[in-house]
Amino acid sequence: MDQHQLAEFLSKEHVGFVRLYWCDNANVIRARAFRSTLLDEHFDHGISLAQAAQGVSAIRDTVVAGTGLSAVGEVWLQPDWQTLGLLPFSPGHVRVFADMYLDGEPWSYCPRTFLKRMVAKAKSQGYELEATFENEFVLLDMADGTPASKARPIDDSLFASTSAMNNSYEVIDDIVRTLESQGVLVERYYPESGPGQFELSVKHHDPLRAADQQVVFRETVHAVANQHGLKAAFLPKLSPDQSGNGCHLHLSLWQGGQNLVPGGSESVKQFMAGLLDHLPALMAITTPTVNSFARITPGTWAGAYRVWGFDNREAAIRVPTNPTSPSPTHFEFKVCDATSNPYLALGAVIAAGMDGIANETPLSEPFEDDPADLASSAGQGAELPERLPETLDKAVAFLKDDHVLIDALGKDLAQAFIAIREAEYQALKDVSLSSQVDLLLERY
Ligand code: GLU
Ligand code: MG
Repeated sequence: MDQHQLAEFLSKEHVGFVRLYWCDNANVIRARAFRSTLLDEHFDHGISLAQAAQGVSAIRDTVVAGTGLSAVGEVWLQPDWQTLGLLPFSPGHVRVFADMYLDGEPWSYCPRTFLKRMVAKAKSQGYELEATFENEFVLLDMADGTPASKARPIDDSLFASTSAMNNSYEVIDDIVRTLESQGVLVERYYPESGPGQFELSVKHHDPLRAADQQVVFRETVHAVANQHGLKAAFLPKLSPDQSGNGCHLHLSLWQGGQNLVPGGSESVKQFMAGLLDHLPALMAITTPTVNSFARITPGTWAGAYRVWGFDNREAAIRVPTNPTSPSPTHFEFKVCDATSNPYLALGAVIAAGMDGIANETPLSEPFEDDPADLASSAGQGAELPERLPETLDKAVAFLKDDHVLIDALGKDLAQAFIAIREAEYQALKDVSLSSQVDLLLERY
């Protein structure tokens, strides 16, 4: 769309504000907007943004020390006009995703640019990827200013209960309609195990579109839930006894328009081996909050073990099989949640997988047990799989030592990201789960 066509579109749709979107290092979805009458002024370079915006944590809007960022300096949020879309829940506003530019070049701290770079690198080696995030979320009743940690889930149902489907069909149908009107195609739906917990899966796309789509998904579920007097919560763990909210990453590797997963290609095995190889470090990016680690526990199907397996829901990487050909079509990386910035998470996963291919890293044998069953027989000498890091500080320490991921992120982005993770860890490591929920529910 050129500038003239865009101006016509904005006028025809009675658009008042054009919002330019970015996701910060703590995965808060943010935007700055300009009046559509000022399109001439903003079409090419977008809108300015304090560099400090990439130096803040989820806790408050102050620049974290050690990020390399300060009150001084601006970048430009340059619109990717191809991503323009109407916002059904905010009539008169449009959304467009933006990349951060400094002095006419992509800015080294920009997460969306990082993902583009990883996609381009994979492509230069002959590979393409398809991806989608599979979201779980809880709908809470927030009547009368209840504190978030005391809010009641809208039902007390179990996995796939039709009572939950019948209880919540209006809000779920509204979410689906609103997603589909923005081009996000919903494929499957069911009430998940936790009270008021739901899962909606959406169609896969190339990584950049999949990451943009993840932002659209989370924003839409929040906005529609709100219109129904509810609060949507994507925070990984709301209560110690309830099932956590995963945001599993589904991936397939392609070459020359052909999906390599069904044939069991060596490249796919090496890619998965790369993920397992870098997994403890990757977790600092894909499960980046103190709260994330309350979710990754054995027996909760969140992938607490450093193994992969066919149809194994306790493995960090599950390869789902189908009764029909082709099978399998993709693999599922479970160690991911919606507090992770989708551009960083997907970019880091691609970097780790491509490193597996570059090094021809051998893939371990598939893990065919539930580790809990093995644990109960450990007395008889059974070998338990490796448990993944149990706290954020450990994952961050692995990331600092992981030169592949640090080089992929680049010095600036890595420095800011790590400083923010460390600040959040210090601020929240001794905070109770219910206080974490009160503090962070609004963010995720
Ligand atoms: N709720 C689980 C998690 O936290 C996932 C359950 C499933 O869909 O397998 O990852
Ligand atoms: Mg699920």
